[in-house]
Amino acid sequence: MAMRKAKNVLTGFLYHVHQPFTTNPAMTTPFWMGKIYLVPFGEIEEGVLEHLVKTLPGVLGYETAKLLSRPYPGRSYDPFRRQYRGEAFLEALPQGGPDRYVGLVEADLYVPPLNFIFGLADRATGRAVVALPRLRQEFYGLRPDRERFLERVVKEVLHELGHTWQLGHCPNPLCVMHFSNSLADTDRKEPRYCPRCLAQMPFSLAAKKTA
Ligand SMILES: [Zn+2]
Ligand SMILES: [Zn+2]
Repeated sequence: MAMRKAKNVLTGFLYHVHQPFTTNPAMTTPFWMGKIYLVPFGEIEEGVLEHLVKTLPGVLGYETAKLLSRPYPGRSYDPFRRQYRGEAFLEALPQGGPDRYVGLVEADLYVPPLNFIFGLADRATGRAVVALPRLRQEFYGLRPDRERFLERVVKEVLHELGHTWQLGHCPNPLCVMHFSNSLADTDRKEPRYCPRCLAQMPFSLAAKKTA
């Protein structure tokens, strides 16, 4: 009896390994891959989380879910710079196991010595934060372009997630892991990882199937 039970467990595990990954957002990711959790800080623009939940699984092969909003962390505001400290938001995110937590915030973030950051990742804990304001055309006095804004959000989230999976910056200017010095760089990039970066990712087979 005990033998049969053990065999069933093993068969179940192998089934997961060989199960083809689909682009269906409602899919179940095997537990050892973890999930991606989106965490808004305060209020963020409506529809951003939903867009990510719809888009990310198709690129990554990871189940993606949104969590409830949480307040801005205490002492995250720097009154001298009139900006928020990126690391404070990173530290306020949950962490654990293979799961990835991506914070999203409508605040202008910085990390010394940089003037500002689009996003920030902690490779050790699998956490990342993306700041939304500078991804909008209107931040630079240009006409709003929601589609372009949402595309930039997806690229920044994919980029920071890549860092949490230990990827570095990629020399390929079309790869989402290419370093963005400006939004022109972000706009040039495609919302996906190049084959070289995909090969370095954990469970890269899963990602390749859906890339
Ligand atoms: Zn980077
Ligand atoms: Zn690459």
